[in-house]
Amino acid sequence: MNCPYCSSTNTAVFLEMKTPNFLAAYEKKHANLIKPFPFEASLCLDCLLGFNSKPLPNEELDLIYDNYKYINPNRGIGTTKYEGMKRLLRKALGPSEYIVDIGCSDGYLLSYLYDHGYRNLEGIDPSPVPLSPGYNIKMRREYFGENTRFDKKVDSFLLIHVWEHFPTPLRVLEMMRSHLDAEGKVVMEFPNFSGFCHQHLLYYNKYFLRRLCIDQDISIEHYEEERDAIRLIMKFGEKKTTPDFHKSEKEAFRQSVFKIRDKSQTAKKSLISFIQSRQNSPIIWWGSGSVSVIALSQIPEEILRTANITVVDSDTTRKGLFLPGFQGQIQYADETLRGSHIETLVIATSFRKEILEKIASLGCTVGSEYQIEYI
Ligand SMILES: [Zn+2]
Repeated sequence: MNCPYCSSTNTAVFLEMKTPNFLAAYEKKHANLIKPFPFEASLCLDCLLGFNSKPLPNEELDLIYDNYKYINPNRGIGTTKYEGMKRLLRKALGPSEYIVDIGCSDGYLLSYLYDHGYRNLEGIDPSPVPLSPGYNIKMRREYFGENTRFDKKVDSFLLIHVWEHFPTPLRVLEMMRSHLDAEGKVVMEFPNFSGFCHQHLLYYNKYFLRRLCIDQDISIEHYEEERDAIRLIMKFGEKKTTPDFHKSEKEAFRQSVFKIRDKSQTAKKSLISFIQSRQNSPIIWWGSGSVSVIALSQIPEEILRTANITVVDSDTTRKGLFLPGFQGQIQYADETLRGSHIETLVIATSFRKEILEKIASLGCTVGSEYQIEYI
């Protein structure tokens, strides 16, 4: 498949998996929508952009976004993930700016800005979760696209874990640019060459970003990496050249990409043998997001069937829902676990610290722990 940025045919596959189309908890009535699909990720050897080379059909993606249940920081889940972004927003955004959050989800960042005096706020999302009535923030239920209109020029777009969902890097940038004030900016966060799954169509990294800035009149005014994410501020209309990376550094990156397949296989084998080694003991499997679904889908059905797994989550809205590829209903951690001894704990989310704090607050003790590695 050609590179979705530079059209090069010099591309190579670095990861293949089979995972369900839905990577989140679902209601029983949606069970017929869940299907496994092959997943494949490739690297462009010219511009170093990673991309989903077996994207789901559009109707499948639409179904996913119409029923999207992303993390809900307003319910206290996954808030640590936003600390760095909150710091950057307070520093980079003026209180009178017109700020539009594309893919605002439950409006967590908008409500945070509102709490700090920002009033000129708007959110756009195909399935927004409404904010509490105390917040006077407009949230539109729509996809950001060609037909999106604004009454005035936008000062800042926020694109938090959204850029990787578009099929090409440039189209959404151009659309935002057409609505931006001349001095306007885009504040973004996205996975740093990670998060390989059906919904993510592009896998960015600093090498590709430099190439983008060289080709286009785009400048990166601020850049930081934290854990698995890149956070930056982008402006248009100016070209600023930054020193190129050393050839050997880019080569090392290329090589590391082609080791992802092995790493993924090793993680899968390790998880399967761990589950097998606990065949006779109850397992508390914590987490019902994408990490959890991808991990469950890697375990052969016959092993899953005989394992004694209870899936729990601290998000009460997930209680009673189902996970693709798993039979039992999700239980609410606070009810199921309070005061108990957890013989075996599988942490199937990247929020380990928050989970362990929650467990301590519930007065639970833990025998052994296994952390799922996110591939
Ligand atoms: Zn390319």
